[in-house]
Amino acid sequence: MIKYRGIIYDNVLHAQWACFFDIVAWRHQYKPSPVPNWHPTFRVEFTCGHSECGEYHSLLVDVTTRQWKMKESPGRRYPFGHLDIKISVEDWHQEWDPEIDACASAVFGFHPGLSEWEMSHGAGGGTHSVQDWVPEWERIWSRAAAVIAELEHAQRAMDVRFIESYAVKKGE
Ligand SMILES: [Zn+2]
Repeated sequence: MIKYRGIIYDNVLHAQWACFFDIVAWRHQYKPSPVPNWHPTFRVEFTCGHSECGEYHSLLVDVTTRQWKMKESPGRRYPFGHLDIKISVEDWHQEWDPEIDACASAVFGFHPGLSEWEMSHGAGGGTHSVQDWVPEWERIWSRAAAVIAELEHAQRAMDVRFIESYAVKKGE
């Protein structure tokens, strides 16, 4: 667990994504309202300048650290915001919503190079990734990593001081 800007994140990766969103000015909400059978990690919104799009695009994001799990991620269930009709019947759950309140569901891996979703954009639509929207992602991701590493270090140091002070008090 790590605290970043007042919110406690389950792990360093989640905090790093939050920091990344801050740097690129994507609005983000950690653990938004769940949809049936899925607790998204983030809801994000980013502005789109295209004349045929709304002011911004929104995604419900599943962050997964396991690259081999990306194919099975619930972040793949709602391309274009609607339940994927290609989901095989035996995998389908009746309680799933036919659509979500976002442009699409997305899966984000352990860096922005591993991210994918399908949404409408401009006159068409298709597969997008963070790389398409943030060409500078590598530099920004490193910056976010540095911020979170420093934060984690500081939080750990404080924990140690807390533990030490507690030990001294107990020994008195
Ligand atoms: Zn757009």
